Amino acid sequence: MANALLGCIADDFTGATDLANMLVRGGMRTVQTIGVPVAGTHIEADAIVVALKSRTISAEEAVRQSLEALDWLRTQGCRQYYFKYCSTFDSTDKGNIGPVADALLDALGENFTIACPAFPENGRTIYRGNLFVGEVLLSESGMENHPLTPMTDPNLVRVLQRQTKSKVGLIRYDIVAKGVDAIRAYIDELKEDGVRLAIADAVCDADLYTLGKACRDLALVTGGSGIALGLPQNFHSADLLVYSGEAGDLPKIDGEAVVLAGSASKATNAQVAAWRTSKPSFHIDPIAISRGDDVVNSAVEFARSYLNKREPVLIYATSSPEDVRAVQKKLGVEKAGHLVEEALATIARRLRDIGVRKFVVAGGETSGAVVQALNVRTLRIGPQIDPGVPATQSVGANDKAPLALALKSGNFGTTDFFTKALKAL
Ligand code: ADP
Repeated sequence: MANALLGCIADDFTGATDLANMLVRGGMRTVQTIGVPVAGTHIEADAIVVALKSRTISAEEAVRQSLEALDWLRTQGCRQYYFKYCSTFDSTDKGNIGPVADALLDALGENFTIACPAFPENGRTIYRGNLFVGEVLLSESGMENHPLTPMTDPNLVRVLQRQTKSKVGLIRYDIVAKGVDAIRAYIDELKEDGVRLAIADAVCDADLYTLGKACRDLALVTGGSGIALGLPQNFHSADLLVYSGEAGDLPKIDGEAVVLAGSASKATNAQVAAWRTSKPSFHIDPIAISRGDDVVNSAVEFARSYLNKREPVLIYATSSPEDVRAVQKKLGVEKAGHLVEEALATIARRLRDIGVRKFVVAGGETSGAVVQALNVRTLRIGPQIDPGVPATQSVGANDKAPLALALKSGNFGTTDFFTKALKAL
């Protein structure tokens, strides 16, 4: 049994998938777990990403869960660890990025790591410690109005310093541009100066590759998914990545397919509209569910009538922002969301029980609910369907046959994503 090389802890589910997707692109066979696996579980992979839901919980609880994930990853014999957060550094002055990074360093007996959320492919760049989203500073990007983690200060050195007692430093672009040796020498200087956490500037993918190389000997790296671009090469150069096939190769799965959409985002609305021009679909109405109509059963029967013809259907709650607001006004935001998530999750389980093996799911929270209903705890990550969204397969869920899954957070994917994803699965 081979040991994993890189052990990752992600502070949310779709962020974990995004990172896993990046590692597969770098040639690492990657498995994502939903929560921390039970003690004694061994996973065969080059990289393991443990997906937590720790971004907006209390710092104390985020630290506890992250350390639990680290403890389990250490049993897998990983050579390096990675703490993944959002590329917009989503956090508050109370945490959780600083406290979690500190706790992981302490647990590993280390005294330095970098913090680099840059993701140039998605417009996130860092210069002189300031995070830009596209052309504008983080604090002018809309993130200043985020309901849970408003980002009103674009300077990440200041942001991170407010979250930690550790001294925070900066690896300026001037140093990054000089290359790997210059960065390593500067890290030594920072350490001598008592710096434990250093924001790293990066404006393009080449910077991330350089930083990745410079981080070869760090036990812990922290960042968005971008910095993960540069890490697989270290394992390649050390001849530790020996797998000869494609890292994202997945065995073929036979069985029927369905598309479930519980996201009301702009991209999902466009995807639903595109599908409905020529393919069968069933609309889930939250008001009808709250009235007591057996919407779940109607949806399952609708899908079943097409499954016999081997034709996948779309079952969707997706509505325009005005309609969603009207429903929320009537039922309450939380109740409406809960009714829809529960309905789609139950539909997924019942469809699995009648032979559906492939699920395309739109919506971050919706994906979480569906995966839980299907009792999926572990996903092997396949090839990318669209940026940030790979094809995946469940591993060892309840001794049932493996399932093929494409789980997309609301705003990801092109207009024809559903059709593309079905083809990929
Ligand atoms: P996204 O990734 O786009 O944010 P999520 O699944 O995370 O999607 O969140 C969407 C939320 O909106 C879910 O809680 C879902 O149940 C809810 N929702 C979906 N459709 C409707 C609707 N028609 N009316 C009210 N709430 C809805």
